[in-house]
Amino acid sequence: GSVFGNVVQAPEDPILGVTVAYNKDPSPVKVNLGVGAYRTEEGKPLVLNVVRRAEQLLVNDLSRVKEYLPITGLAEFNKLSANPAIQENRVATVQCLSGTGSLRVGAEFLAKHYHERTIYIPLPTWGNHPKVFTLAGLSVKTYRYYDPTTRGLNFQGLLEDLNASPTGAIVLLHACAHNPTGVDPTVEQWEQIRQLMRSKELLPFFDSAYQGFASGNLDADAQSVRLFVADGGELLAAQSYAKNMGLYGERVGALSIVCRAADVAGRVESQLKLVIRPMYSNPPIHGASIVATILRDRELYNEWTVELKAMADRIISMRHLLYDALRSRGTPGDWSHIIKQIGMFTFTGLNTEQVAFMTREYHIYMTSDGRISMAGLSSRTVPHLADAIHAAVT
Ligand code: PMP
Repeated sequence: GSVFGNVVQAPEDPILGVTVAYNKDPSPVKVNLGVGAYRTEEGKPLVLNVVRRAEQLLVNDLSRVKEYLPITGLAEFNKLSANPAIQENRVATVQCLSGTGSLRVGAEFLAKHYHERTIYIPLPTWGNHPKVFTLAGLSVKTYRYYDPTTRGLNFQGLLEDLNASPTGAIVLLHACAHNPTGVDPTVEQWEQIRQLMRSKELLPFFDSAYQGFASGNLDADAQSVRLFVADGGELLAAQSYAKNMGLYGERVGALSIVCRAADVAGRVESQLKLVIRPMYSNPPIHGASIVATILRDRELYNEWTVELKAMADRIISMRHLLYDALRSRGTPGDWSHIIKQIGMFTFTGLNTEQVAFMTREYHIYMTSDGRISMAGLSSRTVPHLADAIHAAVT
């Protein structure tokens, strides 16, 4: 017998497993609204034109070689990723394997070097968060975030829970376009959160996976992080270029640890290298080179912001189409949250049974918590989805 004979079959990942099931379905009307990946109006994955241009420049540059990057990644990429929020030298930035890898490296660092092991994550949150932090050695607790009755922010509950947390606890914050709820604090609420967190010495760990997808504007979507940088305090930020540059499979992201002073940041960086070296030695070169090529050039940067805005706008137009389609069907219930929520997802409020029904009868694939990726919709598929939701709730 095999020495691995006792290994039990593991369940599929709750999000990526949706795509596995979708791929097996032969139906011509099937729609995948599970994973948060942008699709065009034709339902196709999109490579940004600015990314194609950057890749052309890279291919034509014969001085480029395939040497190892340093443990911390491409220096110019790191510098450009931390800018313009952090002009001071008090930040340690390392290139990591997209958002997930940045979260994991940050969590490993905290488990080793920070005095408090508890991290508070919003309820609900991205399903991978508790696993990443637990495996890194942190202890995960939740704070109230979403109110199902208002389908909005439970701001009072959030403040109460953060206020009741131990001094120094780590708090995971979605920088913008909260996944899965599509509900963000207002700037005024962010300011209140900041004041409470600073007064309790809670350590902010920002997850920025959707910068540009909330408002269509990179600066507006960075406001939450920048509030916390501006007060001179410390924080961590995990950035992903998967969504906003459409670089999903290139795995390009950055972890920034903003410190009180430059000398601290230098020592922090030296320890980040000790976290990274035995894990994957150093990060891949291609994706970071694409990002650096775009961020360093004003014209390419501007083209990126235009393409990013177009993606955000298409998602917003899908929200209106779906909302109108449900209204015109007379579907019972208040569906205004579809147009109020922001970012890639709508947290529909559909329950597990309703989701299972829509998958079985309409070949619509989504996570069992009722989250749909608006970026996977098109004007062709919205009527089918509206029919499915209508049938599921009536
Ligand atoms: N954080 C959140 C909230 C996410 O939704 C995602 C992607 N689904 C990530 C982090 C990380 O994604 P990636 O590793 O592909 O950058």
